[in-house]
Amino acid sequence: MLKGKSAVVTGSTSGIGLGIASSLAAQGVRVMLNGLGDAAALERTRGELEGRYKVDVRLCPADLSKPSECSLLVDEAIKAFGSVDIVVNNAGIQFVSAVEAFPVEKWEQILSVNLSSAFHIIRTALPGMKKNRWGRIINIASAHGLVASVNKAAYVASKHGLVGLTKVVALENAEGHITCNAICPGWVRTPLVEPQIEARAKAIGGTLDDGVRSLVGEKQPSMRFSAPEDIGALAAFLCSDAAHNITGTTLSVDGGWTAQ
Ligand code: NAD
Repeated sequence: MLKGKSAVVTGSTSGIGLGIASSLAAQGVRVMLNGLGDAAALERTRGELEGRYKVDVRLCPADLSKPSECSLLVDEAIKAFGSVDIVVNNAGIQFVSAVEAFPVEKWEQILSVNLSSAFHIIRTALPGMKKNRWGRIINIASAHGLVASVNKAAYVASKHGLVGLTKVVALENAEGHITCNAICPGWVRTPLVEPQIEARAKAIGGTLDDGVRSLVGEKQPSMRFSAPEDIGALAAFLCSDAAHNITGTTLSVDGGWTAQ
């Protein structure tokens, strides 16, 4: 029973994070949303979620590239809800370039948002979880946490690092009913990838569906995207009592990408 628990979901004002926040709210979980962007749009998203699921939904637009704001996010959730039972480290960014041309500041930014933020959020949330002897930590890694692609050095390094962090946190807390796992999605249809579909469709002179098959089919044998809700459903399962013994592992949702 997740009703009455409380969660922090980073990067949850869009895409996969919003899908996860919705799945948890649908189970009666109180959610602290987080993300960057236009304040009015973020507040609209918060209000919609709260109205639809009739649970307490708050918003903290902390910039997770800064360690102090990562801790602030957890502190704000504890202040609002009394505890943080569930942490989903989902915020992530990408930049594409060959290693020798990779801008140093992009490397630093990607490592801080995709990897270091998870460390800071976990270390701030763990004492409360340990006190309550219950916790669920879910890190949204990627197929790129398990295998590599060219031109994505910072992203691939950060996601492999996130998988390593997942294992350590799981081992350190294995006896305390606190689990830590990484979900490794392949292609998921989010606002982030729509321009890539359009660009591919144009390049091959086909429809948007042709663009999806060409783009996704390169790596993902199923030839189709996952939806944010698919990842949300898995995250909600990992929070359930039935998942108490699933810890320190990676769960791929990648249409066969990493089976090859
Ligand atoms: P998205 O761009 O739709 O959402 C990213 C979210 O992170 C947004 O809410 C944004 O505001 C937030 N964010 C970015 N920088 C931030 C910062 N400094 N501080 C706070 N919030 C910040 O992306 P998405 O496609 O939903 O991706 C979500 C996660 O899933 C990422 O970690 C990504 O690497 C991972 N992922 C995505 C795919 C995919 O195909 N979309 C595949 C595998 C893994």
